[in-house]
Amino acid sequence: MKQIEQERRSFEQQRRRIYRVAGVLGMLAILYTQYIIYIGTEESPLYEITYTINHIAFASVCFAIVWMLGRQRVPLERVERFMLFFFIFQSLVFNGIVPALLRQHLDNLFLDTIGDDIWFLLIVCVLAVHLYDLRRGALIAGSVYGLSFAIVVVQIVSWNMPGIDGEDSEHVLRAYLMGGALLVFLVVLAMYRSHIERLHTEYEVMANLAYTDTLTSLPNRRRLYEDVYRLIALAERYGQEFCVCLFDLDHFKRLNDTHGHLVGDQVLQEVAQVARLHLRAADLFGRWGGEEFVVLLPQTRLSDAQTALERVRLALHTIALPSVHPITASFGIAAYLPGDTSESLLHRADQALYLAKTTGRNRIVVDGEMVEMWSV
Ligand code: GH3
Ligand code: MG
Ligand code: MG
Repeated sequence: MKQIEQERRSFEQQRRRIYRVAGVLGMLAILYTQYIIYIGTEESPLYEITYTINHIAFASVCFAIVWMLGRQRVPLERVERFMLFFFIFQSLVFNGIVPALLRQHLDNLFLDTIGDDIWFLLIVCVLAVHLYDLRRGALIAGSVYGLSFAIVVVQIVSWNMPGIDGEDSEHVLRAYLMGGALLVFLVVLAMYRSHIERLHTEYEVMANLAYTDTLTSLPNRRRLYEDVYRLIALAERYGQEFCVCLFDLDHFKRLNDTHGHLVGDQVLQEVAQVARLHLRAADLFGRWGGEEFVVLLPQTRLSDAQTALERVRLALHTIALPSVHPITASFGIAAYLPGDTSESLLHRADQALYLAKTTGRNRIVVDGEMVEMWSV
């Protein structure tokens, strides 16, 4: 969860940076275009006024975006929504309605704005799909694009625009259709991606559930078996030694009978936490079942495993629940021997544990030595 949050934040910071650069570049581009219009002489004053108004609006919006991005307190989503609605407004009004209204006076405005329009529409569509869920994003994108396209088609087909011949019309329609095809392609890609991501997440959740013990959130027996197989393979291939420890809480049935199952469950959770805290990060620790736990100690000799588990054994005594006797457990440890299978190795650890139980509990017994190592 923490990792997802970190990823989200770093993605947000990246977006902030990109938008800020795009905003500054946008302002520079507007200044340049306005300069071209200013020094040009062949355009009519109405054309210049129309473009100047558009440029002022555009520059103000770029400035507002850069300013909002600078203030970390403004949520990025709000900035993106603002951009989305401005681009929708821009492409429908300036590239759709204004050229249509001024068509009698400015025949070149229509063709001049077509190229911008398609780019704005594509930005709108990408932002819409990013900001909303796929279905709503695709709906907004499709509606805005369709509306814009309709305005253009109506202008070409029914108004007989001055200064536009058949070739121009065909060119414009083709550009819109290509843009539309690109948009459909983007939406299909986004759908495909979100489908794959969902499958991936579902798989991770399922795998997590299948390998995790619900009560303690520790790895369960299935996971531990796989870890044992892996450690045996490493031992066979590279000669890496490792140890296995089984430990079982003492007189747990009595604790359940006296205090109830809820307290029993609480004790199991505490044991899981305390033991995990006192083991090394490289040690694999999980619940084998009931009140029995397993520790796998990679690249560890028997004597070091004994020391590590003695730390755990003593730590369990510190679990203090009201009116519950100190928690104790019995431990059996076995080291991997060449030729061992998971069954033979676990069986030897289990036998050592059995001996720890029969010789008085709350102690560690090591396979091979089969002598009491430590007790209270
Ligand atoms: P010993 O010292 O010989 O291990 O005695 P014990 O009472 O701990 O051993 P036994 O195997 O007789 O009892 C295990 C008890 O653990 C019985 C069962 O009710 C309890 N238990 C197993 N799983 C859970 C669980 O998830 N929650 C609770 N509260 N109790 C559980
Ligand atoms: Mg027990
Ligand atoms: Mg037991």
